Amino acid sequence: MTIAPDSALATLWVPSPNNEARVGGRSPDMLILHYTGMESAEAALDWLTREESKVSCHYLVDEEGRIAQMVAEGARAWHAGQSLWAGETDLNSCSIGIEIHNPGHDFDYPDFPEMQMRAVEALCLDILGRHAILPDRVLAHSDIAPGRKRDPGEKFDWQRLARAGIGLWVEPVPLEGDAGLGPGDEGEKVAALQNALHDYGYGVELTTTYGTGLEKVIEAFQRHFRTARIDGRADTSTVATLDRLLAAKAGGTLV
Ligand SMILES: [Zn+2]
Repeated sequence: MTIAPDSALATLWVPSPNNEARVGGRSPDMLILHYTGMESAEAALDWLTREESKVSCHYLVDEEGRIAQMVAEGARAWHAGQSLWAGETDLNSCSIGIEIHNPGHDFDYPDFPEMQMRAVEALCLDILGRHAILPDRVLAHSDIAPGRKRDPGEKFDWQRLARAGIGLWVEPVPLEGDAGLGPGDEGEKVAALQNALHDYGYGVELTTTYGTGLEKVIEAFQRHFRTARIDGRADTSTVATLDRLLAAKAGGTLV
């Protein structure tokens, strides 16, 4: 049986054996963006379609904006790994995964070229046209696996996507130069911060202590929403940006 790509934007169909039925027959309601973290898009495509790798994704966008599809949108691809969002752990079963080719932090982390961003934007819009995916469920791999993953990273232009109607993003509140809360702190302010992150969907333990887990989640939040400083500390700007984001999610004014 010949399977055609779901997206007319995909010019290449390279089936990956690394897929299966979505558990519970779920429809995708989440979009996860990654970078490949490999030296070339060709090497990434080869790896993602090789049985031994045990990884795959639905789409790969190379640096020139060419789009390859390797798993049908209806099937479960293996891109999220151990991850957590809004209390769910089987995120492969409810998401579509896009790998954006970029060598990543381990290889000098170059900027995402304009041609590539244009293709990512078009592909996301195309996918959102086929599936009911809420803006706050368009996420980075780092959001669902804080500490373990950094992709697609702080150079990825989430603001641009949001302007096109993809994902939720708010103007970050400027840095105020305060150190804010950090590892070792405890008390009500820490608990309030944990609750706010948890309300947005991040996997954070609700204690009253600022531990390593919270530090990693704050780092992931900053990498996506407040890139001016990524240090895992909850300064005033970070906390205020999170508040804005929660207000936007609840249907408040987009700032
Ligand atoms: Zn990833």
